[in-house]
Amino acid sequence: IGMGAGVLFSLILLMTPWGSAMTTISVAGEEIPISNAELFVRHWIKPFGSMFINALKLIAVPLILASLIKGVSDLKDISKLSKMGLRTILTYLATTIIAVSIGLIIVNIIQPGKTITSETRENLIENYSGEAGKSIDSAAKQKENGPLRALEDLIPDNIFNAASDNGNMLQVIVFAIFFGIGLILIPKDKSGPVKAFFDGFNEVILKLIDLIMLAAPIGVFALLAGLVVESPSKDLFIALLWYAICVISGLLLMILIYTFIVFLFTKRTPANFLKGISPAQLLAFSTSSSAATLPVTMERVEEHLGVKEEVTSFVLPIGATINMDGTSLYQAVAAIFIAQAFGMDLDLYAQLGIIATATLASIGSAAVPGAGMVMLVIVLAQAGIPEAGLALIFAIDRPLDMLRTTVNVTGDAAVSMLIAKSVDKLGDPQVKDWDDYYGKS
Ligand code: ASP
Repeated sequence: IGMGAGVLFSLILLMTPWGSAMTTISVAGEEIPISNAELFVRHWIKPFGSMFINALKLIAVPLILASLIKGVSDLKDISKLSKMGLRTILTYLATTIIAVSIGLIIVNIIQPGKTITSETRENLIENYSGEAGKSIDSAAKQKENGPLRALEDLIPDNIFNAASDNGNMLQVIVFAIFFGIGLILIPKDKSGPVKAFFDGFNEVILKLIDLIMLAAPIGVFALLAGLVVESPSKDLFIALLWYAICVISGLLLMILIYTFIVFLFTKRTPANFLKGISPAQLLAFSTSSSAATLPVTMERVEEHLGVKEEVTSFVLPIGATINMDGTSLYQAVAAIFIAQAFGMDLDLYAQLGIIATATLASIGSAAVPGAGMVMLVIVLAQAGIPEAGLALIFAIDRPLDMLRTTVNVTGDAAVSMLIAKSVDKLGDPQVKDWDDYYGKS
């Protein structure tokens, strides 16, 4: 509704005699012609969109700190389950890297951001000139770096600088992981209170995301209204459509890959696997939250796909937290799309950086609606892509979130089957016909 209302509002405003009448504003002593509609939206509507985007950016650093420190320190149990634990983490990592790579290949082939005309692009850059200029500068700087520079850059010399506006998100991630490891290694009586603090802190941040998301309809309205008056041309919408096609085709490909891998390793047919997991997929689609879907995912995987509880209880909760293949694929596509829209050409080095940051950012994304987009800030900041580009993709984020969450959950289920097979814990489904099962219950 916010999306549609924003578009309609600006279109109608542009059509009224007052809205289409021209006026001038003086920028640096120069009189620039502008329509009343654009001026009105710029002064009275767009700020709400900027506030919304700022709130999302605001929450990104505390979110990484809280969720990664908590996530890493929770991994303590892995020592007990080290064989399964290591396999699980490595398989999750592998599927995520495959997903990001697929996203990058598709977006580089289709190049949705390049469908934008140079006029619209100039408008975009002008609108966000401060940020674009800054980021393009830093991208240029990166090219001068030596081969080990990326590695060298991983270690922050000052965590506050790393977390600041011009900072380096990857460094914040490294710090959070390092801190989490430290927490595992100290005695329980000392680490307990710190862990409890970060648990609580994490809860607060998740609540804040909830609260910010309450403002999403207004934010979307303002962003869309701004987009329409600023670019009366249709090309931006067409570019967005191509962008969505890239994300969706990548996600579909991931589902195919899961069914193929499951068949290859467990001999379960795609129909069998998909039928078993489909209620969880539907729930993921409608809630946009892997965490909310987790109980159903566990039940389906255990009872309908035959994975033993020892495996599901370990592999699936970790998966819901760290394995977000759909999210990582989306982040890679979105980052490149925004770069293309701003006319930045990212070289191989920068794209490899995106594989690393999108993998880490998806691991750090909370399993709640919209989290993937909040963490996208990190990927953008790291690659020197203007973060203001989030405004471009925000409008169509929710449907893409629903789809990527479905893939996230499917990926967790597929990996749990592989792990179960590898440790000999894959049995026959307890419930063969789920219609029957639902009939009974
Ligand atoms: N909503 C996704 C999930 O819960 C995370 C994301 O925003 O990508 O899996």
